Amino acid sequence: MRIDGNTKTCVLLGDPVEHTLSPVIHSALAELTGINMVYIPCRVKAEDMERAVQGAFALNILGLNVTIPHKEKVIPLLCETDKLAERIGAVNTLVRVKDGYKGLNTDMPGLCRAMESDGIRIQDENVIVLGAGGVARAVAVMLCDKVNHIYIVNRTMKRADEIAGEVNTYAGRRVAEAVCLDGYDMIPDGRYLAIQATNVGMYPHCEEAVITDQQFINKIHTSYDLIYNPQKTRFMQLVENAGGKAYNGLKMLLYQGIIAFELWNNVTITEEQADVVYERLRKSL
Ligand code: NAP
Repeated sequence: MRIDGNTKTCVLLGDPVEHTLSPVIHSALAELTGINMVYIPCRVKAEDMERAVQGAFALNILGLNVTIPHKEKVIPLLCETDKLAERIGAVNTLVRVKDGYKGLNTDMPGLCRAMESDGIRIQDENVIVLGAGGVARAVAVMLCDKVNHIYIVNRTMKRADEIAGEVNTYAGRRVAEAVCLDGYDMIPDGRYLAIQATNVGMYPHCEEAVITDQQFINKIHTSYDLIYNPQKTRFMQLVENAGGKAYNGLKMLLYQGIIAFELWNNVTITEEQADVVYERLRKSL
């Protein structure tokens, strides 16, 4: 690519940022669309975030991504936050507006678009969310208006309880129920969509899975493991061995990037372009 006086700049703020795959996504999208844009990861400490966001605005930075550990703390630094991001309590994309940056969350719309692309329905589903961290919470918030029931299964019961309470308030019905990791056998027999949102099974601990009990695994018709390294987790393997379908989190990563790129550049990325970027991502893992 050629950098010149018209090159638009987008940046990623996080700590650490060394292993991010986002530059692969945005460089490929810029190339495929012919948009003159660069994307640069910047390691920023928490105490420097305010100056970083102000500095980005002063430097005419078009857009920013924000990753761990800044997704929540960036919110007070923005001039507006969209409704979904506010509900989730986490922002991963900043779009330049007149007086500063507007914060959005493209992780969850990214997960929805990934599921759509894989042909996974969520409407009226019975769902098991494994984990009660930041992402599990966002998943439960996003699903609560659409699904029939959500079991939130977590090692620390208190966190699962908090999410279930919040989600039930948003939904205005008792859609979510907290379950302790040791008590997963209380989930009634049935066929479930499972979203694996714990860290268990991530590289280099590839041989681990959060639950390995065959009786539990048999209840899952489809699993979405948000981990993408390794590309097939032990959890996914267990579900496949039991006859279920299993997907990893790479498409969620892809689509959260695509949605950010679309917002920054006011373009629509086609499925064909998305497929090209997905292959590049797979190869870069
Ligand atoms: P987080 O806030 O740190 O939450 C981690 C969750 O994992 C908690 O529920 C924690 O349980 C559970 N956990 C950790 N170690 C465990 C263990 N040994 N046994 C049982 N449970 C354990 O993390 P997060 O930000 O929500 O991220 C969760 C996952 O999503 C990660 O795997 C991350 O890679 C993935 N992710 C994917 C994408 C994507 O684009 N595909 C984007 C973001 C995140 P406790 O509450 O008991 O500690």
